This record gives sequence, C-alpha cells and structure tokens, in this order.
Amino acid sequence: MRRVYMLAVVLPLAFAQDAKPLEAKKDPDQIGTRDVAKGINFYSIEKEMALGKQLSLEVERHSKLLTDKLITEYVNRLGQNLARHSDTKIPLTIKVIEGDEPNAVTIPGGFIYVQTGLLRAADTEAELAAALAHEIAHIAARHGTRQATRGQIAQISTIPLIFLGGVGGICARGGASLLVPLGYLDMQRGFEAEADMLGLEYLYKTGYDPLGMVDVFERIFSLDGQKPGRIARLTSTHPASDDRLVSVQKNIEALLKEQPQYIVTTSEFNEVKARLAALDWVPKPQLTGPKPPTLRKPGDQLGNPKKAVLQTDARASQIKEAYTNR
Ligand SMILES: [Zn+2]
Repeated sequence: MRRVYMLAVVLPLAFAQDAKPLEAKKDPDQIGTRDVAKGINFYSIEKEMALGKQLSLEVERHSKLLTDKLITEYVNRLGQNLARHSDTKIPLTIKVIEGDEPNAVTIPGGFIYVQTGLLRAADTEAELAAALAHEIAHIAARHGTRQATRGQIAQISTIPLIFLGGVGGICARGGASLLVPLGYLDMQRGFEAEADMLGLEYLYKTGYDPLGMVDVFERIFSLDGQKPGRIARLTSTHPASDDRLVSVQKNIEALLKEQPQYIVTTSEFNEVKARLAALDWVPKPQLTGPKPPTLRKPGDQLGNPKKAVLQTDARASQIKEAYTNR
C-alpha cells in the first residue's frame, strides 16, 4: 500500500518537471528581461559601482594600460556591442592592459581589463568575443559582490575577493584558495559555470558563432597546460577545463536554436591582430636588472610624498597583494 502511495506522489512530480518551461537563465530569448543577479547581495548597484571605481584605480596603478587607440577602441566597441545583447544593468568600462596571460581581469562595477595576451591567443573575432562575453556575464550576474557578500557572511577576510574570472580563471590567486572553506570554492565554481552559460548566450545573441567559445577555451586551456604548476592552482577553484568544454558544447545543443549564419571573424579583427604584432616589435624598456638611481634635485622634498598612498581600505592592500603575487 505504501509503495503505491509513493508512486502516486512521485510520478506527477516527475511529469511536472518535464513539462516545466525553460528556466529564464537558460533562455536566450529572455536576455535583458530576466534577473540573472538574483541572490543575497549586501551591495546596491550604486555601492558596487563606487567600489568598482575605487578598485579600478588600484588595478590601473599596478598595470600598464595599452594606449594604442585602434586596438583599445576596437576592444571597447566589441565589448559594448556584446553588453547590449546581455543582461547587464551596470555600464561597462573596458580597457586593454599589457600582459602575457590569455585572460582578462574583471572587477565589480563593470570594469573589464583585457590582457594583450588574450588578443594574441584569440584566432577569430568570435573567440575574442566569447572570452569577453564570459566576463560580461560575471558583471551581469554581479558575481563579484555576491561573492564578497558570501565572504563577509563566512567572515573570510583573506581572499582577494575582487578577482573574478578570466576565462582560464584567475579567481583566487596566490594560494588564498587554500584558506577558504570548501563551500565557498563550490560557489566560485558555480559562478564560473554560470558565466560560461550566460556568456555563451550573449555571444550567440550578438550574432557570433557560439563555437567560438569552445575554440577559445581549447586554446586558453592548452596554453595553460604549457605552464606547469599554474593549472594545478586553477583547478581548485574552477571546474576542470574538460568539464567546461563539455558543458559549453552541451549548452550549444540544448539552449541555442541554430541560425542560418554566424559571424566568425572580421577584417577589423585581423587588422587589430596585425597592429598588435607590429607593436610587439617596438623595443620595450628593460623591466629587469638594476633600477636607475633615484635622484633628488635641489628644492625637492626629502623622501617620496607619493609613497604615502592612502590605504584606508583593506581591500586595496589585497589587490596589491594579488598583483604582486602574479
Ligand atoms: Zn570567470
């Protein structure tokens, strides 16, 4: 009797699940009209933007911004176009920084710093767009401040909270991941998987070949593999790269209706790549070796007043640490 009763309860539930309409987050047709940032968050949008602004100054203080207009404007335009086909309610600021890693640094408040290494690694515009779309998804879903909120609840003060993503994943840098509870890392993995899914939808909605995401991941993960030690550091906070590739492929099949044509690449992208290659030939100032002496001219103050940088925010020193640990 008990058995029959159980069946009677379970079966309608199973059918109900099958008949359930597609979850809003998985439906590209609902982009822009759904809330993908649901979840506990101590930060209002305004507060997040103010925090982002403050953090962006720190990032820029520790990075070398690319000044080439052709490249920076192109990357910005590409990102803004993706943003228009995304769920983000926060306006984006997209800049290019010099760096070898095929990655981008995303901080709360809509700031994305694309490393030149990512431009070099991408082989088509769709690939570059895929990487950017992943970052935009972090912003749209407000992963940064949701993660920070979770950190505050768990009273974790040692994590460089602001370092989200990068498609290859540079979330928790410098071994900080060893200090945080497992549940927190699970959450990070969940956010990465979600950014992969939402980013894929944005890429598709903007008209790009969704396979660009598979291609760029393969490229980035294989580059990662060339640096022993690095991948081991990443796997603790990120879903294994193979799993991510498989999920992207599954999502392409399950969530995206096939379109008659997709943008794979453009002549502008090729121009930007050529331009970047040409810039690489410009001799760079020597970064290693002995530094020139610091000189003081008559009338200069003793000591360096610039050194007295305000460090009122604990997060500021965490960023500094994350950067120096690279
Ligand atoms: Zn990410």
